[in-house]
Amino acid sequence: MGTGITIENVEPGSIAAELEIEAGDRLLAINGHPVRDIIDFGYYSGEEELLLEIEKTDGDIWEIEVLQEEGESLGILFESPRPLRCSNSCLFCFVDQLPKGLRNSLYVKDEDYRLSFLYGNFVTLSSLRREELLRICEQRLSPLYISVHATDPDVRAMLLGNQACTPILELLKELASAGISMHTQVVLCPGLNDGLQLERTVRDLAALFPQVASLAVVPLGLSRYRDSLPELQPVTCDYASEFLALWQPRAHDLAKQLGSPFLFFADEFYLKAKKPFPPLADYGDLPQIENGVGMVPLFLDEAEHVLAAAEPMKKGVVAIVTGKSPYSYLESFLQGLAEKTGVTFRIFSVNNSLFGDSVTVTGLVPGKDILEMGKREVFAEAELVVIPDVMLKEGEEVFIDDVAIDDLRNVLGMKVEVCVATPSGLYDSLKRCFPR
Ligand code: SF4
Repeated sequence: MGTGITIENVEPGSIAAELEIEAGDRLLAINGHPVRDIIDFGYYSGEEELLLEIEKTDGDIWEIEVLQEEGESLGILFESPRPLRCSNSCLFCFVDQLPKGLRNSLYVKDEDYRLSFLYGNFVTLSSLRREELLRICEQRLSPLYISVHATDPDVRAMLLGNQACTPILELLKELASAGISMHTQVVLCPGLNDGLQLERTVRDLAALFPQVASLAVVPLGLSRYRDSLPELQPVTCDYASEFLALWQPRAHDLAKQLGSPFLFFADEFYLKAKKPFPPLADYGDLPQIENGVGMVPLFLDEAEHVLAAAEPMKKGVVAIVTGKSPYSYLESFLQGLAEKTGVTFRIFSVNNSLFGDSVTVTGLVPGKDILEMGKREVFAEAELVVIPDVMLKEGEEVFIDDVAIDDLRNVLGMKVEVCVATPSGLYDSLKRCFPR
């Protein structure tokens, strides 16, 4: 890892701007400590007196002394770390199952403990070097999000397709004794890491509670692009149903024993099994919501509040587009919302032609499928088409297959609104579009 990080932006009027630090300059060191990335910056920049070593764009080196008041920020924004690449070949890796022709960033297999700390990305730590482990402990990069899959070293190596991976349990114990908090996951592959293997994994990880603060079991995702990949068993409706029947009571007992919810199952299990979700309180502080654990219970809870406060609106017909899996609970929320607001809803769940029918989540719906629906005039009756923001690339109005929202507007020739994919996000969009 090279030394120095490029300054992406300087806030006008900030300390950095006054010191004539500019975008494009590189921060090399703080108080003599080389700065490798944004984490080093955060770690070393908390002192009151700072000596910044800056490399200007013309190659000049400046040394700048700064006296910071408590809580004051220098006003510098940095580039994000360039992700380190993973050295695994996981049997279930979704990147390997992507069709050709998507944007390049989707094919990147990153495995970077820094991104785990900064953004909650899951990492296997399979090739973590000693100095990186020491850095995690010294700088207290906590919590980390760790893909365990199995604590049995042979089973884990088989799942990761990496015989050289570091034994995970020893690593977790070392992190735990350094006070690092960890959220863990198992991607469940029927016949490979379920049954006795899962029992062992749960037992081993629960023994490291509270440092291992949670364990989420999520079903493997299989797209239709697996021709040259190992054959894997899907998590079917029956499998999900039997799995929950066996494991829900165990998770309950474990929560009692540990005094805190610990073992969670991805929402997809409940949706596949068509089983009711546990109450929201059973998800604690939702430590794995970004991993699809507790999103639906949170949605249902928020939906109740939104419905209780919803008011009548101007009449209109709205088309809501969604993936197949949220259809049922979205439908019941929209029925209630229609009664309270007077707005008529039509829900359209999309069969995913890009990844195949088994991929039902909203976030992977391709724009092309919605365009095709528009061409068949399925939205003709509606005045407005609502697209949940999770279908789009973060911060951009582009679907996974690079179809833009504007393409949709042009082809449909009608109003298309992007809404935050929550009950209140939808309600706020409606209020804007159908004011009383
Ligand atoms: S760790 Fe496994 S699942 Fe993640 S990117 Fe690498 S090969 Fe794919």
